Amino acid sequence: MGCRGNLPGAGEESTPQFSLDSDRMTRQPPVMEIETIDLRFQGRVHAIAAYLVSGPGGRVLIETGPESTREILLGELAQRSIDPDRLDAVLVTHIHLDHSGAAWWFASRGVPVLVHPRGAKHLVDPGRLVESARMVYGDRFDDLWGETRSAPEENVRAVRDGERLDLGGLTIEVIESPGHAFHHHCFRIGDALFAGDAVGVRLPGEDYLSVTSAPPQFHRKETLATLDAIERLQVKTLYPTHFGEVDDPASHLAAYSEAVEVSTEFVCDRLAEGMDEGSLRVAYQAFQLERAFRSGLPRDLWETFTLVNGTDMCADGIRLYWERLEREGQ
Ligand SMILES: [Zn+2]
Repeated sequence: MGCRGNLPGAGEESTPQFSLDSDRMTRQPPVMEIETIDLRFQGRVHAIAAYLVSGPGGRVLIETGPESTREILLGELAQRSIDPDRLDAVLVTHIHLDHSGAAWWFASRGVPVLVHPRGAKHLVDPGRLVESARMVYGDRFDDLWGETRSAPEENVRAVRDGERLDLGGLTIEVIESPGHAFHHHCFRIGDALFAGDAVGVRLPGEDYLSVTSAPPQFHRKETLATLDAIERLQVKTLYPTHFGEVDDPASHLAAYSEAVEVSTEFVCDRLAEGMDEGSLRVAYQAFQLERAFRSGLPRDLWETFTLVNGTDMCADGIRLYWERLEREGQ
């Protein structure tokens, strides 16, 4: 479970840590430690991650996962002797419940929760968010997502593109990254990019890439532009929320761009041919199963994709995107 990596803090060269005799200067460059916490969502490994990032002066948590896995998250923090109330901040890439469903709990304990300006109000008043998720998940909602309460407004802070946050001795850069959602941020710390849902879903050691095209905000062009922008950052490691570190950003980004292209093209072609919603869902699932099969994905791992990025939802998201384009006459 989890993986650890020591990386230099933002702006630091990766000079090795060294210490000299006590009568000479001891120099320890600021280092950070990244720990991947597997929230074991619905009892499955490698479905949803939260990232604990420790710097020379403190710690931040990136993503909280849903409220339904809060006890697992708190247990993981307790195992590391970390008092959750003493985190310097909680950062969430966006407000989908698998990323920020437990953020209210941290805010209610006085921990600042940092979020996109367009997401902040939904943490303070999650009514609409919960209502729309209930429509999608129906009876399964409570089991999947737990209880989403209102986060105290005074502990919810909107952060913006380009801001540099100084937290726990870490410099954290906020990067606007629309495409999966209008209100999505990535966070860069040194050579690491915490990418939320901007770079798709991939399981450790597997090649299959699942396109995060959930409704209602998926946008093909913005997704591809964000991938280009991430490529230009030249980071060494990506940390998508689903799941774990990716140490070959260039090939991942190229492969994901292609996955976005072929998946959106597939849906748009079927819609242009007049396929109905229900048939489209079936066809999209078959298309993705075929891609997964060709990539060598073991059949039992398909369930993890179904859990965090189900094909019905993803087909609907691309369909809504296509319908928006049609309305706009593009
Ligand atoms: Zn999402």
